[in-house]
Amino acid sequence: MKTALVLGAGGFIGGAMCKRLKKEGYWVRGVDLKNHEFINMDEVVDEFIVGDLRDNDLVSRIIFAPNQHSLGDYKNSFDEVYQFAADMGGAEFVFTGMNDADIMHNSALVNLNIAKHALEKSVKRVFYSSSACMYPEYNQKDPANPLCSEESAYPAQPDSEYGWEKLFSERMFMAFAKNHKLDVRIGRYHNIFGPEGTWRGGREKAPAALCRKVAEASDGQSIEVWGPGLQTRSFLYIDECLEATTRLMRHKDFKGPVNIGSEEMVSINDLATMAIKASKKNLSIHNIQGDVFEIKYGFPCPIGVMGRNSDNTLIRRKLKWDYEMPLESGLQLTYDWIESQVKNYKGEN
Ligand code: NAD
Repeated sequence: MKTALVLGAGGFIGGAMCKRLKKEGYWVRGVDLKNHEFINMDEVVDEFIVGDLRDNDLVSRIIFAPNQHSLGDYKNSFDEVYQFAADMGGAEFVFTGMNDADIMHNSALVNLNIAKHALEKSVKRVFYSSSACMYPEYNQKDPANPLCSEESAYPAQPDSEYGWEKLFSERMFMAFAKNHKLDVRIGRYHNIFGPEGTWRGGREKAPAALCRKVAEASDGQSIEVWGPGLQTRSFLYIDECLEATTRLMRHKDFKGPVNIGSEEMVSINDLATMAIKASKKNLSIHNIQGDVFEIKYGFPCPIGVMGRNSDNTLIRRKLKWDYEMPLESGLQLTYDWIESQVKNYKGEN
């Protein structure tokens, strides 16, 4: 039986990866600061440990896989370690600058601990979840023509400290690969979305936030979209993200860094329009920005770069993988799930 360790298992992508690995027949251990909000982890992992991966001792202990003949004997090395743990969220959390110290310190500490102990405990392979946020701002000013091919990463100039931390950790993992032969795989995710992700509370990302606003609105109302709505992005459905990630992880020699995303680029207003269509409601869009935004929320409107899209040339060539699901289909599934969450939440309050 193969073994997998999923770090950040209580989060959106980590929880979904646990489900997938369990279905594939792996022995799975999940670790997170917290339990998953929407998944009963007992059903999708063999062992779930609530713990802080900034804690060096904890990481040194959890990175051993149980001996398959005696679950108490932690002497085996994991076949696959997926590192998803990060202090992160959507635009409000990442792009206002208000959480920069935590974002950099907490995530870097987690990654430093994992690289060191993965090496010491002879983990067979580590996946690191980097982000499109590490690409330089200067290539992402034109909404119609953003450049995010892998080799465009340097000279570096991410527009957020979140992106700088991702870049640092990519390089740190690559240095362990170069100097110590740690087998590392790096994917640069572009806006992963789907059911069972955070949809309220300030850490939710654009697709979930828009679906929630639409689900909460009544016919004839407008929903608020932050910024001009002309910024472009692409969004990848969670199942496709897991498929690309496991293909990268199990490829015999291709290590990345490689984009994992969709090339279906839309504006944020297009995304909002799709969410409205999914709801079958009669709603309009109200773009809020500038002083009006700042007076209402007390911080400048966090919109990020003006244009961003995945470039899948490399992943198509190396992994024979490409996104398939139209954004509209994935958003319908996500909207339906968030609408049911909103209804349940209202019922409870
Ligand atoms: P998420 O916030 O849902 O999950 C991250 C998890 O890490 C959370 O459950 C959190 O509790 C956990 N965590 C944070 N600090 C920890 C610590 N010190 N110890 C233990 N657990 C800790 O995020 P996600 O959307 O599932 O993203 C997973 C990874 O993919 C992250 O590294 C993220 O930066 C990266 N990524 C995600 C996206 C996306 O669109 N979702 C895009 C680019 C990159």
